[in-house]
Amino acid sequence: MAVRIKTDDLMSEGLVLPVMEEFYSIQGEGFHAGKAAYFIRIGGCDVGCHWCDVKESWEPAAFPPQEIYPVIERAAACPAKTAVITGGEPCIWHLEPLTAGLRKMKLKTHLETSGAYSLSGEWDWICLSPKKTFSVRSEWYDVAHELKVIIHNRHDLEWAELQAEKVNSAAYLFLQPEWSKREETMPMIVSFILKNPKWNVSLQTHKYLGIP
Ligand code: SF4
Repeated sequence: MAVRIKTDDLMSEGLVLPVMEEFYSIQGEGFHAGKAAYFIRIGGCDVGCHWCDVKESWEPAAFPPQEIYPVIERAAACPAKTAVITGGEPCIWHLEPLTAGLRKMKLKTHLETSGAYSLSGEWDWICLSPKKTFSVRSEWYDVAHELKVIIHNRHDLEWAELQAEKVNSAAYLFLQPEWSKREETMPMIVSFILKNPKWNVSLQTHKYLGIP
């Protein structure tokens, strides 16, 4: 019982996290697509996107809490000096110690978030990918470096424009076809971007490359 309480305390302080997986790969999506990075996927998400391609990440109890310092050391040992924190929804957790440790090791810290939870941590790049099922906390619109909207159907393009009205004017705007619908949605995304060139296309290039 005492051990459980101690672990819960460390979790709330962000000193241990339910890390689902870590891997060295190439960022497939968004502004930094094509660049090598160390990915740290943290378990836990209740946003509930029906097309989610990492549903196995949703239940944090499936991933034993791990101390963050060995994770930081593994990230720092990679040739690429960028760590991408993803999930799940990583912002369920307190991310200050993880990001501070990564930065201390001279890594850039990149975040992928739905914006459903509050901001913690120190970030060099924030990719805000809002989801219709969960409203975005307003602070994310001010700090996001890129806005990435997943397009599952035609109505999502209108919703993307509503999101673009809220995000800061310096943020890069991306439309990304939901993988299972890409054959249907790509023509409408292309047509939309040609008419609205403030948007850029984002593809899940890691899936075309067959890498994680
Ligand atoms: Fe999946 Fe991300 Fe949606 Fe959570 S926010 S359900 S991890 S796509």
